[in-house]
Amino acid sequence: MRIAENIEALELRMNLMGQNTIIYPALLWDLDETTLVDTGIPGSLDAVRWEIENAGVSFESLRRIILTHQDIDHIGGLPEITRVREGKIEVLAHEEDKPYIEGDKSLIKMNRERMAQMMESLPEPQQQQLERIFSTPPTGKVDRTIRDGEELPFHGGIEAIHTPGHTPGHLSLFVKKARLLIAGDELRVEEGELVGPSEWATPDMERAKASLRKLTGYQIDYVLCYHGGFYGPNAFERIAELSATANGQ
Ligand SMILES: [Zn+2]
Repeated sequence: MRIAENIEALELRMNLMGQNTIIYPALLWDLDETTLVDTGIPGSLDAVRWEIENAGVSFESLRRIILTHQDIDHIGGLPEITRVREGKIEVLAHEEDKPYIEGDKSLIKMNRERMAQMMESLPEPQQQQLERIFSTPPTGKVDRTIRDGEELPFHGGIEAIHTPGHTPGHLSLFVKKARLLIAGDELRVEEGELVGPSEWATPDMERAKASLRKLTGYQIDYVLCYHGGFYGPNAFERIAELSATANGQ
């Protein structure tokens, strides 16, 4: 789905933990280079490549992957994509999620206890899928860490906003020329409405609420949520409302 000039929301089918949904990595490009934000679940390479080509962009122009955070549905495709692009891709993430993405720490939401809980309610094939992912979680090298407030000089300028809570190093990206926030999992769209992070999947809700408040400082017209897709215009009004409710103002 084209959401602004040279910005596309890729649409990937995801079947994970018994749920069939669509997730939305972002693709940004200009004449000579392309950036992918998040990579889908393990096994997503073909779908990602197809979606990129389908947007009219050459897969060979892919130079950079920005990871909003360490969760499996965001980093899953990383090893395969970087492997087929053989050293031509720079991977960026926040330093607090870097050790998880690189496999030095185990992914915070894939610990034994949590996995056992999730397994209980799942049919056999999904249990096996989770077991497989759990036994060899995807990892990849982070070439460069991004700081809060850093201006990334790509695609007309992208401001990185550290929005922890969902994970310690969760990032949102503000694409200035389009007044678009790529929100990762800090915001979601449910039944057409913009909502905050999922309580179930957000270990530190207090930090996530503070992150919502931080987002009210930006002139955000549009939001791309990894779960739920595109929202706008006038997203800043809804973000202010969400933040006020969450922070008891
Ligand atoms: Zn997610």
